[in-house]
Amino acid sequence: LSSRASAVLKALDIPTEGVIPGVFDGAWGGSGPIIETKCPATGEVIGRVQSATVDETRLAIAKTVEASRAVRAMPGPKRGEVIRQIREALAAKTSDLGDLISLEMGKIKSEGKGEVQEFVDICDHATGLSRSIAGRVLPSERENHVIYEIPNPLGVVGVLSAFNFPVAVYGWNFAVAFVAGNAAIWKPSPTTPLCSIAVTKIIQPVLERNGLPAAAASLVVGDVDVGKEVVGSGDIPLISFTGSERVGKEVGKNVQDRFGKTILELGGNNCVIVDKDADLKQALQGVLFAAVGTAGQRCTSTRRLLLHKDIAKDFLAKLLTYYDSVTPSSTLKMGDPLDPATLIGPLHTEVSVKNYQAAIDGVTSRGGELLTKRSGKIVDGPTEGGHWVWPVVLRPKIDDPCWQEEVFAPVLYVAEFETIDEAVKINNAVPQGLSSSLFTKNLRTMGRWLGPEGSDCGIVNVNVGTSGAEIGAAFGGNKSTGWGRESGGDAWKQYVRWSAATVNYGDKLPLAQGVSFGT
Ligand code: NAD
Repeated sequence: LSSRASAVLKALDIPTEGVIPGVFDGAWGGSGPIIETKCPATGEVIGRVQSATVDETRLAIAKTVEASRAVRAMPGPKRGEVIRQIREALAAKTSDLGDLISLEMGKIKSEGKGEVQEFVDICDHATGLSRSIAGRVLPSERENHVIYEIPNPLGVVGVLSAFNFPVAVYGWNFAVAFVAGNAAIWKPSPTTPLCSIAVTKIIQPVLERNGLPAAAASLVVGDVDVGKEVVGSGDIPLISFTGSERVGKEVGKNVQDRFGKTILELGGNNCVIVDKDADLKQALQGVLFAAVGTAGQRCTSTRRLLLHKDIAKDFLAKLLTYYDSVTPSSTLKMGDPLDPATLIGPLHTEVSVKNYQAAIDGVTSRGGELLTKRSGKIVDGPTEGGHWVWPVVLRPKIDDPCWQEEVFAPVLYVAEFETIDEAVKINNAVPQGLSSSLFTKNLRTMGRWLGPEGSDCGIVNVNVGTSGAEIGAAFGGNKSTGWGRESGGDAWKQYVRWSAATVNYGDKLPLAQGVSFGT
């Protein structure tokens, strides 16, 4: 193990030698296939993790169900206090855990740290929520009656997460689910197991210190078979799934098949519209961060850029100057994610590189134009063994099928428009509905964009790029992005079962709607 990988793992209490247990159900174990996890920047194997078998997954679910009874028996504000302590434990490890995210997922140092910060932020939100989760008292039409709407815990929440946010997505779910009175079982991406082990090791002692079974935060590292077992379990009323539309569709159907609940957070095909009156410098910054940042591997990364025809030529020229200046030494530095000066890291896996190349080949073979000077895999990249690619901008034909699909890489499609109505129509003319941004100084255009005739996405920004949401508002997308909402806002309402309770405190039994039943 390289000295830097070894230092990060040691700081997070992860073994640097031998096989690392990838199952936690109150105790660490696992006897399924060994997963080798690699650093995307160097190809170094940074851990060998023993995954869960299907039987171990079943057992872990049973232990989590048992633990959920202790969680729901704990008063809400006390659960909030446990989350506050988890927040402190996470904050103390922000730097190390952030570095592990960079090492295992490949995102740059400040984004690795930022992801841990997101978990810290949602803990703050959840701690407050623990004293304010509220039902309602409603008037009854019947004399001496009252109606309550009561939120009660669901039991166990199953969290299946994607590789690109290997810590924060679990955080959003765990913190809110926990203060709402639930236990959680986590099936992380098989390519980021160490991040999930590190997080579980941070949470475990806090739960134990507070007299709770640590299986309230269970973990099953594994592949599709383990994921299917969690998804299919009748003991898990809510499955929160983050990942591709393809897998999300299958997960959604499988959970529906047993009448479970889902939160689906799937792919995005996010569009930026730059109107002719926009602050172009601001728009350029916004597009660059969201299209090139995280090497295009955020669900909210900008995939489509629509430019008003009056500003298109100039704007594109400036944008392309940035793209063409990406090198290991320029201001848009591509390189080792752990180098604080780096702004662009590698793709996560070789599969991502293949998808990236297939997208470029497809568009150009159908008559689209490659606008950047360089494209393709970088053979002699900033570090040896990494999945390095040049970020690209393409001008596909207007009816090219590429417009309809998410490519999880730094591939940006550009087109021009004449009227804002036309731009909004293009924004909405895709299956996905996650994030969208309009750059304008015109109040009327903004009003239209935010209203019923505007963007149909879950995230509708103005003079802000498509990526980089805060935890305050509920996060999620519409249409094939899955309609799920997580994190802040009213997202907590999905993690409870609601009871409508009519209480009669009188001595008669009147019926609603004036119905009489003469007994
Ligand atoms: P993926 O769909 O390949 O995998 C996601 C998870 O599903 C993994 O844990 C995987 O092991 C598991 N899985 C695979 N097949 C399964 C099955 N049949 N049953 C149950 N589980 C199964 O996604 P990925 O490549 O890890 O992540 C990238 C995708 O995630 C992109 O499409 C991105 O847009 C999306 N994403 C969405 C959001 C959001 O909030 N909308 C956030 C992050 C990522």
